[in-house]
Amino acid sequence: MIIVSSCVMGEACRYDGKAYPLDQAIEELKNMEVIHICPEIMAGLPTPRMPMEIVGEGKERKVLSKDGKEYTQDFIDGAQKTLDICKEHNVRYAILKDKSPSCGSQQIYNGQFEGKLIPGMGMTASLLQEYGIQVFAAETAPYKKIKVYDYLEQHGISYIKHEHEPVYTVEQANEMDVSIQAQQCKNLFLRNKKGDRHFLVILEHNRRFDLKQFGEENGLGRLSFASSKRLKKYLGVEPGSVSAFALINDGNHHVEVYIDRDFNSEQNISFHPNQNDETLEITYQDFEKFIKSCGYTYQKC
Ligand code: SF4
Repeated sequence: MIIVSSCVMGEACRYDGKAYPLDQAIEELKNMEVIHICPEIMAGLPTPRMPMEIVGEGKERKVLSKDGKEYTQDFIDGAQKTLDICKEHNVRYAILKDKSPSCGSQQIYNGQFEGKLIPGMGMTASLLQEYGIQVFAAETAPYKKIKVYDYLEQHGISYIKHEHEPVYTVEQANEMDVSIQAQQCKNLFLRNKKGDRHFLVILEHNRRFDLKQFGEENGLGRLSFASSKRLKKYLGVEPGSVSAFALINDGNHHVEVYIDRDFNSEQNISFHPNQNDETLEITYQDFEKFIKSCGYTYQKC
């Protein structure tokens, strides 16, 4: 499960009575079961409220408003209530608005109310991190990857993560300076002539693929590669990042799945976590479990 700061999802809970909507957060997290939290509202603070900043360090940290009143206990309460929600819902990832004295994870204001930022974390972000929750700044979070990690973990699928330079083609993947023992795949996103059926074809990366032959053999008629617009619409990813894991974004199960009949079920298999600068390796059994958990049946090809 993922939690996200309410203000970045468009809720007007900031100190100035406004929201701080982030298009990327709203787009990536739509249709997902995520928990919106505002620690300051949960602490019972009103909206609007005075601007507040953290002064001091470590155990000496205090939260003061611009007019000099202390709100430290309110911020501790808001952080604790957020942590309680995380524990109750097995939250592993938090996407929080940066620079806030509660939610900031990279930067906070310097405590002098002069608009200057310093490296640091807000009260909630630091408590969640202490508890082992991975905290990301909403402004720069790798949403696509977080969604995949969270999905796999929630479904009991363990993975080995390989970080590398972005790769866009199978040839580039073959040349990567990273040793991945698992079977690598090419993931092809196709459409029929009418444009009302779409197919994700997952093949061993060296297997030759003939579009015409594939369409004929599987009774699908004339096929073509689907546009980037259709890729975004149905699988929620960009060209160069097509992956079996993108099926988590196809909530309506519109896409039909074909899997290489020659995959070796004894060997691990690998895919990008919907962003092409990482590869995740899972067992073949977990790959099948993943496909089924997303609600798909698949054809062998
Ligand atoms: Fe947004 Fe967090 Fe501030 Fe609430 S406490 S307004 S969620 S940044």
